[in-house]
Amino acid sequence: MIADLPPLVPGSVWLVGAGPGEPGLLTVLALHALTQAEHIVHDALVDERILRLAHPAAVLEGMGKRGGEASPKQGDITARLIALAQAGKKVVRLKGGDPFVFGRGAEEALALADAGIVFRVVPGISAGIGGLAYAGIPATAKQCNSTLAFVTGHDQDGDMPSAFDWEALARGVEVIVFYMGLGKVEALVERLLAAGRRPDEPMAVVSRAATAHQRVLESTLGNLVADLVQSPMTAPALIVLGGVVGLRARLNWWQP
Ligand code: SAH
Repeated sequence: MIADLPPLVPGSVWLVGAGPGEPGLLTVLALHALTQAEHIVHDALVDERILRLAHPAAVLEGMGKRGGEASPKQGDITARLIALAQAGKKVVRLKGGDPFVFGRGAEEALALADAGIVFRVVPGISAGIGGLAYAGIPATAKQCNSTLAFVTGHDQDGDMPSAFDWEALARGVEVIVFYMGLGKVEALVERLLAAGRRPDEPMAVVSRAATAHQRVLESTLGNLVADLVQSPMTAPALIVLGGVVGLRARLNWWQP
């Protein structure tokens, strides 16, 4: 292992990104955190094999928000983290992907900061980067895009965000990656078409990326909704629009 990794100090919390799935995509610091933690509060997206890397004496507590299902309130999760830290535990909050990308990590860090708890953020490989790579879709390619947007299909109330400027997004950004968009795909497609994106643009859904259950549906903006009726996809899934999807024919390197 790398020398001089920082210790997880009792009474502090590390917000750790677990990456999109495959355990090998953990960072060295994330693995170090798992082996040191006394208490790990993990969300629903974290792979079983990653949880098995925890110290055998560590307490594993599942506390994840999951679209649609009954899930703990965000306030309960932050209260739990604060209570564990105040009890002097070495705490890891383990989240799928990167903790600061659509994972409520910012809210949790703000609550820890406000409570005066020492914390560290361990970035992870976000699904929108690593998950796409496992689907053979590069986030950027010189011949396709110089801009990239990550967009959530949910606002704070679970609705599709209507507050932002879809025309500006559609006009200004070549490749758009939607997180949490599967349940809203019809509305997303409708907005993108109305905002001027071409129906023949390549679009894909990447389900359970970088796991043994990965599936990819390649389509176009105009056909995606119909293609999803033929081949339904399961969450978690990314939806990606843009020319980079067309490179998959040559770059599809990974078979689960
Ligand atoms: N912090 C996470 C995102 C959490 S929001 C990250 O950085 O990746 C949850 C959404 O992430 C899901 O709805 C899905 O859009 C995406 N996601 C997370 N893991 C995924 C995976 N293995 N395959 C496809 N999408 C994934």
